[in-house]
Amino acid sequence: MTAPILRTLGELRAETAKWQAAGERIGVVPTMGALHDGHLSLVDAAKKDCDRVIVTIFVNPMQFNNPDDLENYPRTEHDDARKLERFNIDILYVPDGPEMYPDGFASTVTVSGLTDVLCGTHRPGHFDGVATVVAKLFLQTSANDAYFGEKDFQQLQIVRRMARDLDIPITVHGCTTIREIDGLAMSSRNLLLSDRARVKAPALNEEMERIAEEIAKGTPFSELQDAAIRRIENAGFTKVEYLEVRANDDLELLDTPTRPARLLAAAWLAGVRLIDNISVRD
Ligand code: AMP
Repeated sequence: MTAPILRTLGELRAETAKWQAAGERIGVVPTMGALHDGHLSLVDAAKKDCDRVIVTIFVNPMQFNNPDDLENYPRTEHDDARKLERFNIDILYVPDGPEMYPDGFASTVTVSGLTDVLCGTHRPGHFDGVATVVAKLFLQTSANDAYFGEKDFQQLQIVRRMARDLDIPITVHGCTTIREIDGLAMSSRNLLLSDRARVKAPALNEEMERIAEEIAKGTPFSELQDAAIRRIENAGFTKVEYLEVRANDDLELLDTPTRPARLLAAAWLAGVRLIDNISVRD
C-alpha cells in the first residue's frame, strides 16, 4: 500500500496525536532517501516492533560541509515511495528545507567528545547538523523507537548520547550493516561510483576483514595499520582518511580490543567518500 506522503509538521502531528491517544507504539526511521536494502532493513525492524511506522526523507543541508556534495546527493523520492509499498508503513514524512528550518532558525545541538574523532575531524559541523535534525525528528514524530544503521557507527553512538542527554523518551536501535554480495556496505553514495570505481570498492571491506582476523589472532593494530592503508590505496582508493580501532561505547582509540570495539574506516574512491566499520575481537 502506498503510504501517505506528509510534508508539514502540522499534518504529521495531527496523525501522531491520534496514535498517542490510542496508546500505540510509534517507530521512526530517519533517512536522506535514495533508499536501498540497508534502509529497508531498518523499516523491517521497525515494523516488527511498532504499531505505527514513520519513514522520514530529508536531505539535511545542515549536515553537509561541502555544497557540491549536497547538490549531487541522489534524490529519488518517487522510487523510494515505491520501494516502501510492501512494508505498509503509516507515513512517509518528507519536509522541505523551510519546513525544517524556518526563517530565524537559530539553534544547534552539539554532542561533544564523540564528535571530535573519526568523521568529526574530517567533516567540520557534520555531526552538529545530524544531532540537530535527528533531535528535531524525534520531537516532531513523538516516536517511542528509532532505527539507525551500524553502517554509520559514530552517528549511531552520537544519536544515542544526544537522546539520553536531552531526556528524549525514545529507544535508539542499532541495526546490522547490509552489504552487497561482494562485501561493499550498501550506501546511497554508491550510486555516484562509476562502473570502474564500483569494481574497486569492495577492497576496503576485504582489507578490513583481513585486519579483523589478524587482531583476533592477537596482533596489535599498530603493527597492521600502515601496511593496510597502503594496500587499500594500491587497490585504487585515492586517500584513506582514517583506519582506526575504537571502543564501541566512547570511541576511545585502542591498539588491542580489550573491550567491545570496531575497526572503522573512511576512504576516497574516484571522488566519492566511502565509510565502513566492522566489529573486532581480542
Ligand atoms: P542515510 O539515508 O544514509 O542518512 O541513512 C539513513 C539510515 O540508514 C542511517 O541510520 C544509516 O545508518 C542507515 N543505513 C545506511 N546504509 C545502511 C546499510 N548498508 N545497512 C544498514 N543501515 C544502513
